Amino acid sequence: MTPERTAGSEAAGAARGPRPIPAREVRRLLDAPPGQRARVFAAADRARRAAVGDEVFLRGIVEFSNRCARNCRYCGIRAGRTDLRRYAMDESEILDAAQAMAACGVTTVVLQSGESDAFGDARFARLVERIKRETPLAVTGSCGVRPEAVFRRWRDAGMDRYLVRFETSDPRLYARLHPGDRLEARLEALARLRALGVQTGSGFLIGLPGETLETLAENILLCRRLDLDMAGIGPFIPHPATPLGGAANACASDPERFLLALAVLRLAHPRAHIPATTAFDAVFPGTGRNRALQCGANVFMPSFTPRAHRGDYRLYPGKPCVDEAPGDCAACVVGRLRLLGRPIGRGPGHAFGRRLARSRTSGTSSRTSSAAAAACDQGPAPVCSM
Ligand code: SF4
Repeated sequence: MTPERTAGSEAAGAARGPRPIPAREVRRLLDAPPGQRARVFAAADRARRAAVGDEVFLRGIVEFSNRCARNCRYCGIRAGRTDLRRYAMDESEILDAAQAMAACGVTTVVLQSGESDAFGDARFARLVERIKRETPLAVTGSCGVRPEAVFRRWRDAGMDRYLVRFETSDPRLYARLHPGDRLEARLEALARLRALGVQTGSGFLIGLPGETLETLAENILLCRRLDLDMAGIGPFIPHPATPLGGAANACASDPERFLLALAVLRLAHPRAHIPATTAFDAVFPGTGRNRALQCGANVFMPSFTPRAHRGDYRLYPGKPCVDEAPGDCAACVVGRLRLLGRPIGRGPGHAFGRRLARSRTSGTSSRTSSAAAAACDQGPAPVCSM
């Protein structure tokens, strides 16, 4: 595939696609009995193809720090865990990871950490600038809620996208699970990012204790109302070292509903980038992310966190790939996509039909696209040599 065809493909994706299903259908399809779900999955797969094409965009994730000031009651790296080794990668280590993923043909780096300013907001801005200057990668941040001035500074440094998951659309459930935090604060952060011209991503956990089918439907509809560029969802998996360690997933007796939620999300919000999140593999070992890609997902996020840190960034138990090296994850995704007959997305994989960030490095979008496409054009598929 040539870069020109890639650009054309994205433009075509912006201009076409099925209409979102109405709200009443969201609720009805989430309640589809097992015998009817294959049709929902097939409809979501068709909607994904019509709206965003067959390409699967690779976003390499670097979990650069597990320090967090919050105490979300389900999270394996919550501040209250004193038994956990806390770490923060230094800038050169993060930059090495970014360069390694660029060499593998990955076109976006996702910089993820707990919600803490321990790393330093100015230092993060410098890191983004260096990545934009020294690699062809698009940059996504995922470090929690920050003041508008910080988001602006990061945008000006070249940050293309930012993720802030709302986790549940039910404000009371949100308050119960997130001590000292409010759902509104998350939604306001998304609005601030949007106003700054940063591509926004959010999403939710499926099956939080106390969640109903109505909550799940409302979660999906909130993704649509927010007009998210990226919507990431995954099952709640109780972590034994957290206050919710003994709680069951609200859909525990029907795990296929996790995939059903993803399929309905695609039908309700056809033009979003939707990742096949790692937690699907924790629930369906070895096949979960493949199945997610077959019922609506179009993004895969191989881990480039150094092996030395992976065990300390377990948000939930059974997290896959903890013992793998970064190159293993890159090779694994290539094999999976070959098996599924899906091409790897070329170019940065920006939002479909969205204006891009007004960063002072505004030339980076096209530079990223052409450089990454050029890297991809060196071979039929990126194969990591690490
Ligand atoms: S979910 Fe995020 S903000 Fe909450 S404790 Fe975990 S890392 Fe921190």
